[in-house]
Amino acid sequence: MKKNILVIPGDGIGQEVTTWGKAVLEQVATQFGHDFSFDEAIMGHTAIEAMGNPLPDDTLAKAKASDAILFGAIGHIKYDNDPTAKIRPEQGLLKIRKELGLYANLRPILLFDELLDASSLKPEVLRGTDILFFRELTGDVYFGEKKRSEDNNFASDLMNYHRYEVERIAIKAFEAAQARSKRLCSVDKANVLETSRLWREVVQEVAKRYPEVETEHMFIDNAAMQLVKNPKKFDVVLTANLFGDILTDEASQIAGSMGMLASASIGDSTGFFEPIHGSAHDIAGQNKANPLASILSAALMLEIAFGLTEEAKTVTKAVADVLKAGYRTADIADAKTDSKQVLGTKEMGKQVLQVIAQKQEIAN
Ligand code: NAD
Repeated sequence: MKKNILVIPGDGIGQEVTTWGKAVLEQVATQFGHDFSFDEAIMGHTAIEAMGNPLPDDTLAKAKASDAILFGAIGHIKYDNDPTAKIRPEQGLLKIRKELGLYANLRPILLFDELLDASSLKPEVLRGTDILFFRELTGDVYFGEKKRSEDNNFASDLMNYHRYEVERIAIKAFEAAQARSKRLCSVDKANVLETSRLWREVVQEVAKRYPEVETEHMFIDNAAMQLVKNPKKFDVVLTANLFGDILTDEASQIAGSMGMLASASIGDSTGFFEPIHGSAHDIAGQNKANPLASILSAALMLEIAFGLTEEAKTVTKAVADVLKAGYRTADIADAKTDSKQVLGTKEMGKQVLQVIAQKQEIAN
């Protein structure tokens, strides 16, 4: 298979972890006989420093021309501490999502048995959890009108949704539920918010087209509680942008660390594959970041963008095998981890590559 992949490492640990997501794609191409070509582009703080723009035109043009994008993370401490900065790294991310029409963010909460103890939740609560989140990505308060009064004493962000925006992501989520365990939970705040009442109405309409799927509606406050009380209760979860942002970070603790979770943003054109974590200033440049979320993002790309299921499984299995062998990065190590098996970013990346290569040898 011939594919053009754009790599956008971004800022901070984005640059460190993306090296390994890309290396895994190269390894898979070699082993499975695919022709993947790679290009690279800048975004976020790195792009502001170089061009004064968090999403340069050249990056956007390359993104539109590619078959899939492997992204790292954006962000820099100087903007976190300066809310008044007019040009900001996250503007690049919001703009590229809008420009590529990436309206659905898929976040699988994949729980490796070996990491049951790395979570702050009890293993017996977690075991068997397998959730697929569908978070709406191009609407909600993030994109509604923003206001600040002249006297600086009032601010507002408008929460809004169009019917078509809810319908198109609901269809994607119901399709996934149909192919999985036929259970879908739509999360909203329909007792208070008009946007949520529209959300629920549309989801109920779409649900009629999928009679085999058991549909449940849950308020966000209840969902946030149920997610840590009994995560196994959920299979496909469908939610709006703001609620999804918060719920999926909460759910990351089920998997043990932000460093373990991958995501796919899809729409009607090029898909965007990225870890759910940010640029992690606290550990950037120290070879401490866990590269597994970027490697699992590469696996998601293989499966969702290219339909290469076998290749994607090989990568996920390699990650599981490395964890089974006892290797950990610092964020997923616990008291039982042998300190000699606590690896840096590069060493963990190399372990995964080695295991993928061994899988080829076994096959031969
Ligand atoms: P973060 O995800 O960067 O970090 C949160 C915590 O998790 C930190 O303690 C960090 O060390 C740890 N962590 C994250 N990824 C890790 C990994 N791969 N391995 C080991 N530990 C990891 O979130 P934050 O601290 O809230 O934000 C830092 C910056 O990232 C901010 O500038 C923010 O705007 C940006 N950000 C960007 C994205 C994105 O690019 N999609 C997402 C979230 C935050």
